Amino acid sequence: MSIRKRLILSNIAMIVIPIISFILIEILLGVFYYKVFVPKFNGHPPHSFYFFRFGIIVPIFAITNGVLSYFVSRSILRPVKNLTNAAKQISEGNLNFEVKPINNDELGQLAISFELMRRNLKESAEIQKKYEENRKELIANISHDLKTPITSIKGYIEGIKDGVANTTEKMDRYIETIYLKTLDMDQLINELFLYSKLDLKRVPFHFEEVNIHDYLVDRIEELRFDLEPINVSITYRENVDRENSIVLIDREQFKRVMTNIIQNSLKYMEKDEKRITIKLIDDEEKITIKFHDNGKGISKDALPFIFDRFYRADPSRNLSTGGTGLGLAIAKRIIEEHGGEVWADSQIGEYTNIFLSLNKKSIVKVTQ
Ligand code: ATP
Ligand code: MG
Repeated sequence: MSIRKRLILSNIAMIVIPIISFILIEILLGVFYYKVFVPKFNGHPPHSFYFFRFGIIVPIFAITNGVLSYFVSRSILRPVKNLTNAAKQISEGNLNFEVKPINNDELGQLAISFELMRRNLKESAEIQKKYEENRKELIANISHDLKTPITSIKGYIEGIKDGVANTTEKMDRYIETIYLKTLDMDQLINELFLYSKLDLKRVPFHFEEVNIHDYLVDRIEELRFDLEPINVSITYRENVDRENSIVLIDREQFKRVMTNIIQNSLKYMEKDEKRITIKLIDDEEKITIKFHDNGKGISKDALPFIFDRFYRADPSRNLSTGGTGLGLAIAKRIIEEHGGEVWADSQIGEYTNIFLSLNKKSIVKVTQ
């Protein structure tokens, strides 16, 4: 019942109950004095009649007022106290409690809104905490990844200073290694810079309508030129309506994604016969590109994490392949900026499939 209704009803009761009581007392006293007592009044009842009449009605009036005021004020004050307590706990930073509505009235509604506010605050506090943890983890990862090549550069330079590189050959090898390590650092810094810019949404995307079939045919032609000399076969398949294969992409960023996926296939390929297959699949509103390789595959445990930044399924191996673990995280961000999705499936020792799906841009054909 709403507070207003309760107040109106208690006010009515405060008037009605004494009136009814008054009438009842009049009747009872009348019956008592005129029938039971049977006095002979000379038109006037005795003084005791008036005494009892007011002596009973006044306490009834006071009690009705008191009891109703007590219950009505209690039904308002209890929820107010509950809300005051909740506000105090929130202001002290404690968000692990529940604000339960006591009555189904305006204050009950306020308690429900309070509970909603508490939940939202708790959620944003948790997100904030997670961001903070992510930031710390990111700094730890960056420090670690920069420390590794720097330690090794330092070691080689100390070797040169101490005269360990005492032949021209050794000196060349040392300098070459130092150079390669600086390239690793340069790549890490560039990828990190790009990743953080993507994270902050500071990378400008220039979307254009592209026929993805034609685009892939061209890209694969280019790739074949690079891959054939290193004995990697690349095949293209499609089952799409070529006319209706228009998607919105940023050519440069999309190329970056493809390059990373292909580079991964090459890096993690341990087979004599190396095969990469790219397939374009029509998926109603979407178009999916499947990148298949017959490489070493990814274990079931590692698979869910490969799109996380700095994740490497096999960190020791990556020291030799020089990966930063940012490639797929960057690819995922870029595809998400395209409004698409990216996922993978793999069989260890057998194959890896990376899927990219993009929304189709339906073309309105103008009939002449
Ligand atoms: P980067 O691409 O930044 O140089 P990276 O290749 O190690 O470094 P990602 O491209 O993000 O990082 O890949 C994450 C991890 O997923 C890799 O370290 C590798 O363990 C695994 N992985 C990715 N693609 C493949 C693949 N085609 N075959 C096997 N493992 C893969
Ligand atoms: Mg990679």
